[in-house]
Amino acid sequence: MITELKSIPDIWKRMPSETHARRFLEGIIWSSGRFCPHCGSVSSTALRGRTCRPGLYQCRDCRLQFTVTTHTPMHSTKLDLRLWICAMFLVLTSSKGISSVVMARLLGVNQKTAWKMGHAIREMMDDRNGDLLPLEGIVEVDEAYVGGAPKSLSGAYNPRGKGCGKPMVFVAASRDGQARAKVVSDDQRVTLEPVLAAWIVSDDITLMTDGSTSYLGIGATMEEHHRVIHSQHEYANPETGAHVNTAEAVIAQVQRALVGVYHNLGRKHLQRYLDEIVWRWNHREPFREMVKQWTTKAGVDRERTITIWKPIPVVDQLRVLLRGAVGKQMRRSKDFGLCWP
Ligand SMILES: [Zn+2]
Repeated sequence: MITELKSIPDIWKRMPSETHARRFLEGIIWSSGRFCPHCGSVSSTALRGRTCRPGLYQCRDCRLQFTVTTHTPMHSTKLDLRLWICAMFLVLTSSKGISSVVMARLLGVNQKTAWKMGHAIREMMDDRNGDLLPLEGIVEVDEAYVGGAPKSLSGAYNPRGKGCGKPMVFVAASRDGQARAKVVSDDQRVTLEPVLAAWIVSDDITLMTDGSTSYLGIGATMEEHHRVIHSQHEYANPETGAHVNTAEAVIAQVQRALVGVYHNLGRKHLQRYLDEIVWRWNHREPFREMVKQWTTKAGVDRERTITIWKPIPVVDQLRVLLRGAVGKQMRRSKDFGLCWP
C-alpha cells in the first residue's frame, strides 16, 4: 500500500507498471470493497480470459462489465493511469493551480489532453456529494468581481466593483479553515441567502460582512452579525473581532490564480476553477502557531497568534478526491470540447 507520494519520479518509481497504478486506484476508489459503478452491487467477478484487458470485472447482478475508471471523469481513458496520478499530483501540489500548457509540457501529452485532464480533476473536486464540513462558528462572507482584460494591454477602461459586468463570485469562509465560493448572478439578498444557507450548519453562526446592504437582511436571521464599513476606512474591529480578512484571503487566491495561471478562462468554466481553489483551501491543516508582536503608531504593544497552515499529504488528498469520483463521468461534446451530464 502506497502511503506517500513525494514527487513525479517517486510516482514512477513506486508504480513501475500501469498495473501498479491501477491497483493503487482500486485500493482508493474501492477502499471499502469493490462495487459495480452501474448498479452499486458489491458482488462481482474478475474477468481473466486471454482477450480481456487487465482490471476488467463483471457484475454478478447487472452482468455489465467495468473497470476502476468506469463512470468516473477518467471513463474510457486511453492514457497510462500513471499519467493521471501525475496530473492529480501536479494539480494538488501547485499552490495556485497549473495551466494546461505547463501540464502538457511536464507530462508529455497534448495541450488539449492536459486541458481535459485538468477539467476531469476539477470535476472530482466538485462537492456535489456534500462531503465537505459545513461552515460554523464565525463565518465571513464577501463578494468579488473577477476577470477582464488587463488595462495596459487592451487600452480599454475596465470598471471595477459592482456594476462592472464581470462575473460575481460570492465567497464564505469560516475562521476554522473551511471556505466556499460560487459564481452568482447578482448581490441581492434573494440570490445570496439560499447559497449561504446551503453552506452553513444552522443559523447559529456569527456572520461577518463588509458594509454592503445586501447582508443586513441575511445578518438579521443569524445569531450575530458584525460589519466592517470599508468606505469609512474600517477594516477590523478589535472589540468585536469583526473583519472579513479570511474571506478576502480566499478571494486573493482566486484573483492570483486567474491572473497568474489561468489567464483566459471562459465564464462557463469559472465555477470549476473556483472549486479547485476552494478545494486547496479546504484541504489544509494547522501546521504551527506563530506569535506576532508589534507596536502600533500610538505606542500600544499588540500581540497576535497566527496559525500557519499547510496542505494535507497528497495521498490523503487523493483519497478524498477519488472517493467521490464514481458518477462524475464527463462526455465529449460535438465540437471536441467537454460536456457534463
Ligand atoms: Zn452491476
